[in-house]
Amino acid sequence: MATKAKAPETPVGERDQVEKSPQSVEDAKRQAEVTTGVKPGQRAEVTNLEIVHHYFNRAADRLGLADDVRTVFWEPYREVTVQVPVKLSDGKIHVYSGYRIQHNGARGPYKGGVRFHPEVDIDEVRALASLMTWKTAVAGIPYGGAKGGVNCPANELEQHELQKIARSFLAKIEKVLGPTRDIPAPDVNTNAQVMAWFMDEYGKLHGHTPAICTGKPIALEGSYGREAATGRGCVYMFREAASHLGLTPAETTFTVQGFGNVGSWSALIMQQLGCKMVAVSDASGAIRNDEGIDASALVDYIRAGGVLADYDGGEPIEPDDLIAVPCDVFIPAALGGMIHEGNADRAGFRVIVEGANSPTTPAADRILHAKDVYVIPDVMANAGGVVCSYFEWVQNLQHFRWDEREVNHKLGTIMRRAYREVSARAKQESLPLREASYLVGIERVVEAARTRGYI
Ligand code: NAD
Repeated sequence: MATKAKAPETPVGERDQVEKSPQSVEDAKRQAEVTTGVKPGQRAEVTNLEIVHHYFNRAADRLGLADDVRTVFWEPYREVTVQVPVKLSDGKIHVYSGYRIQHNGARGPYKGGVRFHPEVDIDEVRALASLMTWKTAVAGIPYGGAKGGVNCPANELEQHELQKIARSFLAKIEKVLGPTRDIPAPDVNTNAQVMAWFMDEYGKLHGHTPAICTGKPIALEGSYGREAATGRGCVYMFREAASHLGLTPAETTFTVQGFGNVGSWSALIMQQLGCKMVAVSDASGAIRNDEGIDASALVDYIRAGGVLADYDGGEPIEPDDLIAVPCDVFIPAALGGMIHEGNADRAGFRVIVEGANSPTTPAADRILHAKDVYVIPDVMANAGGVVCSYFEWVQNLQHFRWDEREVNHKLGTIMRRAYREVSARAKQESLPLREASYLVGIERVVEAARTRGYI
């Protein structure tokens, strides 16, 4: 059964400290309606780019960044758009668009995932690239921010078709990549196999270069712990927050939206801690069981070819109702903008740990604050993946391998440090964690750019 989260003993984070926070959920909704008009069941009223821009601007205002300086740190440094023509099994040539956007490299080589999804467009990639810049800075790892994507319907394609797309895309963007320039990683619908194709394609031109991408298979110099790292990082964040919120894992219930890499690993590790998953969804549908859904059995079932919506460990529910299932912790781990003005007031949870990128629109964020939901934002919550990618890159550069225990230990150290640094800033400035993390991230990037003499 769900336990109520207690107010933090020290007022860390947003719950007591939201600057200009609305008085009530109704106020927050009215405020949101000024710019929006989304109905329940729809995705976001704003784009991912608008979401990131909103938070960037709020932080830039607070930091007093002049307009010219602000432009330098908002605009991407380099944008590459390529045509990806591939002959598919239907015998026809399909032409997809591929993007690699390098947002800011002041703190180190560009770093960020590659997404294969039909909804990928240049603005979404810009948003995700910018988010990576602030995320690597918040985590304190020596990278800039980048993102890539191909607007292909990955879920409908066969493996050999995906391989063609991966190789074609990589061959067209390889000139801007390199272990000291830009290092791709997996994201939605890309995985260790796709990274293996990327590495192989790059190696045809440059020789064996494992440090060209991260998230590779263990057999190809991938890192132990990388596959689970984003989910594990989310759980480290939950554990840090839990002690402030008076939540004990054995009494904690949670819901996962999107049971892919991030969602399934978050669920498995939450379950290992003793928490109970009461609802879960993926693109096929959603299920609920107040007695608990065994994350491990669900992973086995899906690996064996099962469809989540048909899993008999829970009752099918409308995907739109997932957000309303009463629980302590909600882990969005699907796409951006899924918690929006039209559904945020139905939130049945007390804490949200944003595994996905930009899952919550600014309007929804205000509604969640008004509902006293404790928000651990994407820019810190899902940094575990890029932190472990950093470990993989370090190991590749040394041609040396750490064991999984060492990787997880180092991951925990960095995630806890990020949480504590952002929490301290949030407390100091009476801000939500999200705004505090943007302040910390932007400040670090601006300092690096100034010290280099870039601005
Ligand atoms: P994935 O492709 O492994 O999983 C995505 C999951 O979302 C799938 O289960 C899919 O069925 C589900 N999904 C898609 N549409 C849905 C919908 N409308 N409702 C419910 N579920 C839906 O991708 P991933 O790598 O786990 O990434 C998930 C999110 O986490 C993305 O926002 C990504 O940017 C972010 N992220 C990923 C990593 C990483 O290391 N993989 C790191 C940081 C952030």
